[in-house]
Amino acid sequence: MHTIVLASRNKKKSQEVSELLAPHGFRVVPVTEFADVPEVEEDGQTFAENAAKKAREVAVRLNRWVIGEDSGLRVDALNGAPGIYSARFSGPGATDESNNRKLIEELRDVPDEKRGAGYICSVALSDPTGTVQVACEGTCRGRILKEANGSGGFGYDPYFLIPEYHLTFGQLSSLVKHRLSHRARAFSLFIPELLKIRDRFE
Ligand code: IMP
Repeated sequence: MHTIVLASRNKKKSQEVSELLAPHGFRVVPVTEFADVPEVEEDGQTFAENAAKKAREVAVRLNRWVIGEDSGLRVDALNGAPGIYSARFSGPGATDESNNRKLIEELRDVPDEKRGAGYICSVALSDPTGTVQVACEGTCRGRILKEANGSGGFGYDPYFLIPEYHLTFGQLSSLVKHRLSHRARAFSLFIPELLKIRDRFE
């Protein structure tokens, strides 16, 4: 197994990334396992900028290869909000619950046919000098329900319906999410590039 650091403090996201990379021989260590790594300020204007920033800053700090991942939800009826602000949509101290409450409230009067949305995931790999060597993005379209369904996944998943399955990411198994999701799609582009340079890792 090769070891690679993930610049994320989100446990569920780290778990998903671990599950996506393990079959390819990579063990993912979240940045939370290292002492004294400051939080990266997510001040980029795009998912890709934030993913690269997380990867670069943590890589230089640890002198290791690091994956940065930035993801979120773009809702058509909200002109793409919450977008890069998905984790902090409901303000300071935001939780998945408070973010979902705000989302459903903002979409209260929006009819079913106008509740389209897309998840986006950007992934970047930085070498230990802070140079991004690989960058990929994946998307996944769905619709925002009025009520939660299921308790799997995280974030907005219980409200995010995959129309082809008539089920939300909160209801679908992780096996299915790992085939369809924005993260799965980004990593399906990322993994072949990672494999090409794996001999340069630990
Ligand atoms: P980040 O950690 O700054 O990239 O923020 C990611 C945020 O986007 C999460 O806190 C969720 O609100 C949302 N998000 C990203 N990916 C997913 C997913 O797979 N399911 C549900 N919510 C997600």
